[in-house]
Amino acid sequence: MRVPSCTVQATPVAPGIAIGRVMILHSVADHGKNTTITPEQVAFELEKFHTALAVTKEQLAELQTRLRKKLYDNEADIFEAHLLLVEDRMMISEVEKGISEELYDAESAVYRAVEKFAAAFSAVEDVYLQERAIDIRDVGHRIAGNMADAGERILAYDEPRIVIAPTLTPSETAGLDREKVLGFAVETGSATSHTAILARSMMLPAVVGFPRELLDSLTVADKLIIDGFSGKVIINPDAGTEEAYRLKNLEAEKLYRQLSGNRDLRAETTDGFAVEIVANVEDGEDYAEIRKNGAGGIGLFRTEFLFMDENNLPDEDEQYEIYKKLMISAGNDPVTIRTLDIGGDKLSSGIFRAAEQNPFLGLRGIRLCLRERRDIFDTQLRALMRAGVHGNMQIMLPMISCMDELLETKEIIAGLKAQLLAEQIPFADSIPLGVMIETPAAAMIADRFAVEADFFSIGSNDLIQYTIAADRSNERVGHLYRPAHPAVLRLIKYTVGEAVKQNIPVAVCGQIAEDMTMVPFLLGLGVNELSMSPGSMPLVKKLVRSFSMHECAELVDKALQCNDSAEVTKLSADMIRRLVPELADI
Ligand code: PEP
Ligand code: MG
Repeated sequence: MRVPSCTVQATPVAPGIAIGRVMILHSVADHGKNTTITPEQVAFELEKFHTALAVTKEQLAELQTRLRKKLYDNEADIFEAHLLLVEDRMMISEVEKGISEELYDAESAVYRAVEKFAAAFSAVEDVYLQERAIDIRDVGHRIAGNMADAGERILAYDEPRIVIAPTLTPSETAGLDREKVLGFAVETGSATSHTAILARSMMLPAVVGFPRELLDSLTVADKLIIDGFSGKVIINPDAGTEEAYRLKNLEAEKLYRQLSGNRDLRAETTDGFAVEIVANVEDGEDYAEIRKNGAGGIGLFRTEFLFMDENNLPDEDEQYEIYKKLMISAGNDPVTIRTLDIGGDKLSSGIFRAAEQNPFLGLRGIRLCLRERRDIFDTQLRALMRAGVHGNMQIMLPMISCMDELLETKEIIAGLKAQLLAEQIPFADSIPLGVMIETPAAAMIADRFAVEADFFSIGSNDLIQYTIAADRSNERVGHLYRPAHPAVLRLIKYTVGEAVKQNIPVAVCGQIAEDMTMVPFLLGLGVNELSMSPGSMPLVKKLVRSFSMHECAELVDKALQCNDSAEVTKLSADMIRRLVPELADI
């Protein structure tokens, strides 16, 4: 039975309008779901299961070896038990039966088998045996995680569809086929979760905060409209509503076409203050395409997306080729490449030694590189320095919270340069090294960092979450995650002020760089560069060219005296309405 026609308000995270039927994607995190397959798909699912088993075995064995090397014998024993479970005949044949007889896809069959065995253990009085249920679930999750395959399942539909899912991981999102997916609506996430960031780069209209009850009741026969501007989702729209949205879509496209007339103009205020508009990219994509949107360079290359396939991490030469290609295609334009920032919601389990309870406060970014994965860090830095000879490269470090992280990296770079020299391999000797200001700690000692760093780049997505203590990807605290919070503005003001004293530039590469209501403040605060998804550049250029620096600075003075973000946002919204009314209602 079709769900009755209705409208729900979700949170918009990527602009645009999508109209189409539903494609249900049950993620690996969604244990309760049972996705069925056709008999023709059995062989494929069986093979997928066995490949994932082999990968899991390798991961567990490697984990064990690493732990034993560090003399963590007890922890290593836990993985011994996990290994035994992976090899358990009963478990394996239960999953095989689930696929070939009951026609479940491999992930569902794994979860069903796991739940069956875990439930049996949980029911026993013995505490030791009860704990085995946790191990079983853990192993099951690992196996299923090793076969996440959002892209493949989408092939089953002959027309493009709207993906709905409880959650989409960044790698699942990156795997979506743009030709087959119109947009998506998911339950979890926020505008600054990496899933949303990817949606914007892929120009996929998307919303988060889609209610669970609806997710569970929709079927592939249901039709949706996703309004990625307002966050509305219309379920089974009537003909009139559908037509109205088609018109709205055409209007939006027309406005974007008009705005793209600005793309070759300088982003300069009416009183002559210029900012650089540069691009955020997630892979070594074609710079020529990005340039067409008006980019003057790349302000953030999130290299972690090269490391998403934990079974196949890129080696030095592979990375060198990717960076080199990008450098050559960018010509003289600056290219800022961020070193690996895996962690938080960008989990890549093969790179981590252990799961963490608070990944956003854990061993992510520079911490992981310096503490546990110097191998990956050294390889990446060598590849970057080698590729640096092909253009105008800058390197920046993510998740910096104290000075020794920067100083230690400088020492590492000096050591790697000596190696490259000895090996007679060409490399760029003086690549500017910047730090991301994305922890309040880094912002509060910006005066110290400004002496040691060549530039700052404000990672506002993280800076906001750490300042307000509101997880950027948790929709339940989404109401607290407020870019215009006066505390955030104060931290940025201090950071820019200290950078100016040392004469180093400041960029903003988080989502606020393309947030219309935040742009006037960033201008007024004096940032030099705004880095954003290429699709937003024409809009932001239009905004910058509509304001005067003088007014923006006055606006900042008022904002710093506000009690809360609502007052702050109203200031800029009023200014936009007054000076650029045509953009006020987007
Ligand atoms: C940020 O934190 O603002 C940022 C640009 O980095 P990421 O979103 O990748 O964490
Ligand atoms: Mg960040």
